[in-house]
Amino acid sequence: MSVFKEISSMGHEQVLYCHDKAVGLKAIIAIHDTTLGPALGGCRMWPYENEEQALRDVLRLSRGMTYKAAVTGLNLGGGKAVIIGDPKIKSEALFRSFGRFVHSLGGRYITAEDVNISVQDIEYMSTQTSFCTGGANGSGDPSPITALGVYHGMRAAVKYKLGKDSLKGLKVAVQGVGAVGTYLCELLHKDAAKLYVTDIHAKRIQKAVEKFGATAVGENEVYGLDVDVYAPCALGATLNDETIPQLKATIVAGGANNQLQDEERHGAMVRERGILYAPDYVINAGGLINVYHELRGYDENVARKQAKDIYNTCLEIFTVADRDSIATHTASGRIAEHRIDSVRRVSDLRNTVTNQIWIKKK
Ligand code: NAD
Repeated sequence: MSVFKEISSMGHEQVLYCHDKAVGLKAIIAIHDTTLGPALGGCRMWPYENEEQALRDVLRLSRGMTYKAAVTGLNLGGGKAVIIGDPKIKSEALFRSFGRFVHSLGGRYITAEDVNISVQDIEYMSTQTSFCTGGANGSGDPSPITALGVYHGMRAAVKYKLGKDSLKGLKVAVQGVGAVGTYLCELLHKDAAKLYVTDIHAKRIQKAVEKFGATAVGENEVYGLDVDVYAPCALGATLNDETIPQLKATIVAGGANNQLQDEERHGAMVRERGILYAPDYVINAGGLINVYHELRGYDENVARKQAKDIYNTCLEIFTVADRDSIATHTASGRIAEHRIDSVRRVSDLRNTVTNQIWIKKK
């Protein structure tokens, strides 16, 4: 696998391989695009089978962050980091060392929590660098704001597809009642939506049944339910060849990452079936909005207000998708690229003018 071939085809600016033999650190930081601002994205620790797997993951995830920030209207670029290793074997020294690598990038990359990285790990990093978010004195658990964004994205989809201003009486199937799923149920319950919930943990289902009057459904039953909205809030890749034909819901709007197993194929399949899909990285951007506001001096009300704006972002995406007869995730990609390109053109122009003045002076 040629690293340059990969990064040039995906448009990355920089990839940093981090190695510290003394503490057993092997990590890769990928900066995809910094046109709109510093590249912010979490760091995950995973026992990748090989370096190629780790590189592919970090390249894909960092590019995703660029699109997420751009379409959400944040002044951030896209980046991500992966630490190759067993998350059961962590040490303070390892995270301090990783923090020094983050610091060496001078703020071009800002790190945060992701899979297998705890608040304590971020605290260790923050002894070496200020370029990290999500520490003990940070913006806290992002799940409530993520759920708020999902709720407003769902409202937009309901308005667009069903012409309704309210969720009252609508049937919503929530797959996964963990952190995001439970906060989402709370908001939907307040709006008098009728809830159907599933999870692999019976206790979590039971809690949702008691708290929100939800109906418990089986793990595989969730796809074929006669509901208005399917809200995936557990795993990725739940929109695939097997599940899409089963869906009776005309709207998919949930917080899970990477819902389309294959973006092109399944994005098109969902559209062909007349199902309105609120792109996952748009509708679940509340978490990123939360850490973005941490960088600017955290004010929960401001963060919540911006998460609410996911409603308008979704409406714009649905409109562009229909206008251009394309899948909704393709439309959101185009909107993100358009924002980045227009900012880049202005800054290129500014650089050209500055250079010309400088040459003339010489
Ligand atoms: P979580 O672990 O708290 O909740 C996930 C729930 O899904 C758990 O209750 C789990 O038991 C359940 N689950 C797992 N497999 C299942 C299955 N096959 N069927 C039904 N339920 C199943 O995680 P979370 O923080 O709520 O995140 C949920 C999703 O949202 C993830 O995909 C995550 O990447 C994404 N997300 C979360 C945030 C956030 O702020 N927490 C932000 C953006 C995206």
